[in-house]
Amino acid sequence: MNDAVTQYLKQQHELGFRTLFLADEAAAPVPAGPAAASAPVSADTSGGKAAALKALYDANQSCAKCALSKTRDKFVFGSGNANARLLFIGEAPGADEDRQGLPFVGKAGQLLTKMIENGMGIPRSDVYIANILKCRPPGNRDPLPGEREACTPVLVEQIRILKPEFICCLGRISGRFLLGLDETFTLKSMRQRFYDFMGAKVCVTYHPSALLQHAEWKKDAWEDLKFLIKAMGLAIPAQFK
Ligand code: URA
Repeated sequence: MNDAVTQYLKQQHELGFRTLFLADEAAAPVPAGPAAASAPVSADTSGGKAAALKALYDANQSCAKCALSKTRDKFVFGSGNANARLLFIGEAPGADEDRQGLPFVGKAGQLLTKMIENGMGIPRSDVYIANILKCRPPGNRDPLPGEREACTPVLVEQIRILKPEFICCLGRISGRFLLGLDETFTLKSMRQRFYDFMGAKVCVTYHPSALLQHAEWKKDAWEDLKFLIKAMGLAIPAQFK
C-alpha cells in the first residue's frame, strides 16, 4: 500500500476511527458549538460514537476561531476508544503532538501511557485522551482564556458523544477549567474526590509533565490512580497491593 495511505489509515485508527467513510457518507458533519448539543448520536455502540466523533473532527479540523490556528502544524482532536469508560483531559498539545496530530505522544505522553497501562492495568487503547485546547500554544505557554473559550464547544461535544463514566483531569488547569473552579482551588484541594460533569464522575490528578519534573509527587499520583481504579471497579495491579 502507498505510504501516505498507510500513514493516513494509521492516524485514523489512532484517532479512534474504526469505520472508513466514503466522501458522500462523511459529508454530513455534526455542527460544532452550542447547536451540536442537540445533534443526534446513535445509541449503536459499535459504530455510532466513532462516526459522530469523526464528523466532529471533520467539522473542526480546519478551525480558525483563534490565533493558534495560524501557528499550529496539526489540529490535535483527541484519540482512543470511542466506547471508553474513562476520558483523560490534558491541557494543550506540545511540540510532538502538534507534529503528529495526536495527544500525549511526547515524553509526558509516554509517562501517561505508563500510568494507564502499568499503574491502572488497562491498555491505553481502552481509554480516550483529549485536551482542553486542540492547537499548540507557541512555546507551550498556558492557554489564554479566549483560546479556551474557542475550544470549549469541541471538548463539550466530545464528552457528549463519548458519554464517559469517568473523566480524569490531568493537572490543576484542566481540573479548574472543566469544573469551572477559580484559582483558589489548588491541585491538592481537588484530588481524591469526585465531581460531576455532564453525568461523568470527574477526578483530578497531577499532570504527567509535572511528574516528570517532580518525581517526589509520583507517590501521590499513584494514590489518585488507585482511587480511580477502585471507583471503576477494576482490580488494583499487584504493585499497589
Ligand atoms: N501535555 C498536554 O497537556 N497534552 C498533550 O497532549 C501533551 C502534553
